Amino acid sequence: MKNLFIKSLIILLVMNTNNILNAQKHELPKLKYDYKALEPHIDAMTMEIHHSRHHQAYVDNLNKAITGTEFEKMNLEMLMLNISKAGNAVRNNGGGHYNHNLFWDILSPSAKKMPGDKLKTEIEKSFGSLENLKTEMNQAAMTRFGSGWAWLIVTPDKKLKVVSSPNQDNPLMDIAEVKGIPIIGIDVWEHAYYLKYQNKRGDYLAQIWEVIDWKVVEKKYHEALESELLYKLK
Ligand code: MN
Repeated sequence: MKNLFIKSLIILLVMNTNNILNAQKHELPKLKYDYKALEPHIDAMTMEIHHSRHHQAYVDNLNKAITGTEFEKMNLEMLMLNISKAGNAVRNNGGGHYNHNLFWDILSPSAKKMPGDKLKTEIEKSFGSLENLKTEMNQAAMTRFGSGWAWLIVTPDKKLKVVSSPNQDNPLMDIAEVKGIPIIGIDVWEHAYYLKYQNKRGDYLAQIWEVIDWKVVEKKYHEALESELLYKLK
């Protein structure tokens, strides 16, 4: 009896020590708005399931996958830059965590509809107009077969570019064909739109621009231009 008590005590101690060691883990970010705030463009049920279940699952599975590995000590950006060294669980769930962090961040119920001076000029230089950029991004999103993302990125030579990637990959990953820092990410997994738009991905894409906040995108653009990640991507 006494033996069993000591054994239980030791097990409890070991569990607690593990918890302390693993304390610095990835976490689901809080949204800056309510689940219903992006209606009618994105419905509350989709937002709730997408954030509290899908994104939470990426976070939980990422934490599980990196426990006891060298990836545990990397921040999310460094993890993306070293993703080729990790297995599929880290790639899929780490990508899922990074991508959704960006996605929630650029959405807003009071989205600014136009980029400001410097970014606007750069968009016109690269794509002709804001409308052209949207068309190109929607095309990248429409032609991405199955699940994936469409991106606007800042490339290592500080140019703007539209790309897309499969599954939860992203342009910050060292395995990406075209690399860059994403400043817009559009989720085209069916879980992002199916409840409201069913199979009509194009209808969802037409609406998503109503809640993409150019104020946030602009901030990300300027941060990307100054970011040391650009040099690491070269
Ligand atoms: Mn998603």
